[in-house]
Amino acid sequence: MSPTTPVSALTIAGSDSGGGAGIQADLKAFAAHRVHGLSAIAALTAQNTRGVSAVHVPPIEFLQAQIEACFADFQIHVVKLGMLANAEVIRAVADALERHRPAHVILDPVMVATSGARLLEESALQAMRERLLPLATLVTPNTPEAELLVGRSITDADDAERAAALLLEQGAAAVLLKGGHLQEGDRVIDRFYDGVSSEEYRHARLPVDAHGTGCTLASAIAAQLCNGLTLANACEAAIDYVARGLRLGYLPGRSEVRVLDHFGAATHA
Ligand code: PLP
Repeated sequence: MSPTTPVSALTIAGSDSGGGAGIQADLKAFAAHRVHGLSAIAALTAQNTRGVSAVHVPPIEFLQAQIEACFADFQIHVVKLGMLANAEVIRAVADALERHRPAHVILDPVMVATSGARLLEESALQAMRERLLPLATLVTPNTPEAELLVGRSITDADDAERAAALLLEQGAAAVLLKGGHLQEGDRVIDRFYDGVSSEEYRHARLPVDAHGTGCTLASAIAAQLCNGLTLANACEAAIDYVARGLRLGYLPGRSEVRVLDHFGAATHA
């Protein structure tokens, strides 16, 4: 890391008290990539590896104060968006991004946790489509999130391609459609589209329950952009990072839900 004005990455997302997902995963991913990480906490969850027991959304003015404090002092190259909870939060975040115009906005359209807990109110979907997709340099939905955003089901590669085209039409500059929920043999296929080119990234499916993979992927992409990679190369490197982190992952709680080993993933590259 250069001692003079390194670029920073800002995550605007939710806190996971269990340390596996959300802001906590984001900051670990930034640090493991040697990128200075900033955070504006849009929501707090009381959470462990078994699930979410409560959610608190702080006053909007306090979220705005966190975001403004970050933009007032740091050279923010990338903003990563995670759990935003409701439409009012989405509108405040969109207003701030329109004012500050960072070079990249990575939108992880978090809706429902793997454990089944809702992390975005249903009524906020339209605000996400209208306000955030047009600001996103990359949106990183899993299959159920992409289905909700485009309003059609995705069961195979053709559906995935059509959904990506619709997300580009809705304003996202690029799409990384995560294939973990699709059954395509013993492989997971993540698909990247930017309207000009498309890429497929294939990995062996690991037979484990894990937590925080989506947050980590989007943050690792943000970090790789800060480190100078192109968007497609950042996606490929971040997918490899998540796969390594998952393989090296551990069970910090009493459930069988695995948490990623970020620093192991960074040092075993
Ligand atoms: N909790 C918070 C605060 C999050 O931001 C996220 C992000 O997706 C999750 C939980 C969900 O993590 P997972 O679905 O991997 O359990």
